[in-house]
Amino acid sequence: MESILKFDNVSKHYPNGVHALKDVSFEVREGEFVSVIGPSGSGKSTLLRAINRLIPISGGTVWLDGQAVSAQRGTALRQLRRKVGMIFQNYNLVYSLSVLQNVLHGRLGYMGGLKGVFGLYSEADKQEGLDLLKELGLEEFAYNRASDLSGGQKQRAAVARALITQPRLVLADEPTGALDSKTGREVLDFLKKLNREGNTIVMITHDLSVAEHAKRVVRIVDGELYEN
Ligand code: ADP
Ligand code: MG
Repeated sequence: MESILKFDNVSKHYPNGVHALKDVSFEVREGEFVSVIGPSGSGKSTLLRAINRLIPISGGTVWLDGQAVSAQRGTALRQLRRKVGMIFQNYNLVYSLSVLQNVLHGRLGYMGGLKGVFGLYSEADKQEGLDLLKELGLEEFAYNRASDLSGGQKQRAAVARALITQPRLVLADEPTGALDSKTGREVLDFLKKLNREGNTIVMITHDLSVAEHAKRVVRIVDGELYEN
């Protein structure tokens, strides 16, 4: 299978001297569901942010869909970011906006936020958003404010937002961290379904019972990555 994501000897030094990633190399192929498990402070979020260049790395190369992430700027960077759908522990929804507007927001490559706020989307975009919400069992909430949703529904709305660009890679950072075990299980089941449908997923967690839902588990300890 084709390589979607590749870390070649990636290191990250924060300006305060913390060495958060130490010579990390690993590869994710198309169709995989990989979890990265490690304790708090081990570098999981740093690893995730390096993928879409929310932070610059200090050494090595991150390859996303065959392109070196650190070489991209401006429009090219935005296009590269659209290849990655992000799901966060705390959903990162805009609660004053409708569920559908939040989903459509995913198109922006997390930039140019005002355009989304003013609802400058085509009918085709909206229909695509509605179709995704339907798939996630949220169609009846499309025009509700995101604040009206329960925790599990919020995370499903966030999943819809992550999928709106038809990403090459779905990244989930502790996606069940804020949910009770039953609702968390529903989100994991949905991620597994997405994976069966061909989506490539990298999930970060500190919880082994969550990590075990992935097909492959790698460990990160103090900035070093280990394949099991
Ligand atoms: P995890 O997500 O596994 O909890 P992080 O990637 O958030 O770990 O953090 C890894 C290490 O880098 C920790 O020691 C943390 O304190 C440090 N760190 C994270 N973000 C920053 C930052 N912006 N500036 C300085 N140090 C940071
Ligand atoms: Mg973290």
